[in-house]
Amino acid sequence: MKAGIHPDYRRCMVTCACGNTFETRSTVRELHVEVCSKCHPYYTGTQRLVDTAGRVERFKRKYGMK
Ligand SMILES: [Zn+2]
Repeated sequence: MKAGIHPDYRRCMVTCACGNTFETRSTVRELHVEVCSKCHPYYTGTQRLVDTAGRVERFKRKYGMK
């Protein structure tokens, strides 16, 4: 690697909308994500929807679903 042209690669705290936090390495200090490995349905094995912004409700209203 050439010195001086690469951004700092450092420890980074990732905060998920579900409340889970974990550490990774990135060029930024903090990351905020909506889905992580703890709450994504693929990993949890459930059908639970992670609805952080009322998007499911809006969709149901729009298409007249109860
Ligand atoms: Zn999460």
